[in-house]
Amino acid sequence: MKGNWIADYPQMETGETGSHSSEDTEQDEVEEYEVKLEAEHSLESRLLSVIKALHRIDAGTYGMCGTCGNSIPMERLQANPAAEFDIEHQS
Ligand SMILES: [Zn+2]
Repeated sequence: MKGNWIADYPQMETGETGSHSSEDTEQDEVEEYEVKLEAEHSLESRLLSVIKALHRIDAGTYGMCGTCGNSIPMERLQANPAAEFDIEHQS
C-alpha cells in the first residue's frame, strides 16, 4: 500500500520537473490541506454537538446527562454549553 495516499490528492502538480522550491510548495499545500481538514472536522463535530443540544432544549432534556439523566453542573455547561454528559459519563 506504500504511496497510495498520494492518489488522494488529484490536484498535486507532479508534471513539473521538480526544483526544490516546487517540492517545498507541494509539501506546504499538503500540510495546509491537512490543517484545514482537521479544522473542518473539529468545527463539524462542534456544530453537531450544538445541534444536538438544541434538540435537547426542544425535548426538555437540556442540561441532563445523556447516560444517567443527572443534571450537568452549571459550571460545566458554562464551559461547554453543548455538553451532553456529566463529568462522570463524558467521552
Ligand atoms: Zn451521567
